[in-house]
Amino acid sequence: NTLTMSLSLLLWLLGLCHTCLLIDGGNQTEPEYYDNELDSIGARILTANSMASEILIEGDILQTRTRIPRNAKCRDNCLWRKASSGLVLIPYTMSNKFSRSDQDEISRAMKSFHNRTCIRFIHQNTREHKDYISIKNRDGCYSSVGRSGGRQILSLNRTGCISYGIIQHELIHALGFHHEQSRSDRDQYVIINVDNIKPGKTNNFQKRDTHNLNTPYDYSSIMHYGKHYFSQNGKNTITPIPDASVQIGQRKDMSELDIHRINLLYHCHRP
Ligand SMILES: [Zn+2]
Repeated sequence: NTLTMSLSLLLWLLGLCHTCLLIDGGNQTEPEYYDNELDSIGARILTANSMASEILIEGDILQTRTRIPRNAKCRDNCLWRKASSGLVLIPYTMSNKFSRSDQDEISRAMKSFHNRTCIRFIHQNTREHKDYISIKNRDGCYSSVGRSGGRQILSLNRTGCISYGIIQHELIHALGFHHEQSRSDRDQYVIINVDNIKPGKTNNFQKRDTHNLNTPYDYSSIMHYGKHYFSQNGKNTITPIPDASVQIGQRKDMSELDIHRINLLYHCHRP
């Protein structure tokens, strides 16, 4: 019956991941606090996602049937494969619910990888490409982390997620990266102010046992949360160390380190 099924599902999810919490909605009328444009974009993602029907962790990461990778660099089997040309071809489809200008913005974000890495997003050919990203206009901005096998959804809600930086952010999840403030060494660089986090949302700030590719912590990463994400009182949930005024959580463009890490993870030669 339904109860047994729910319990089995819960146990199955708990078995998959001991440290992550599932975001299960939330109250749309709760105020979102932010003090600048960058945080407001982040808040837009989180607001859009508080209604998402998919099971999300860390705000915008889609739980998949495969085990959540523990590393920022996910295990090799969830990386996208490299062609003999040295390029990493990532097939995708795009919903026809997107307008022409939405599609142009998504293409523009994809091309930003083509210019700077060996990643190439290509149109899926159903005979050739079994694993692919299906870009949909669903109820939030979210993606799986890494290649999950078969068709994987990357949602870009038309009213909240069609912007260059947000699209890059979700695509980088799909490449295999977690959020920057989830890094194993993050406690040297940020303080997580648990008292300021909305009740039930603290697990969005879990630290993970990540592989950091020997790269420095990057406050300017497009994968970093803003200072007020999930704040219940307008105060910082994340405070940079040692300088609290450092800007974090931008969604304008990939940082140099974001680009560098993609090139490291996929062993790109000069693009
Ligand atoms: Zn994210």
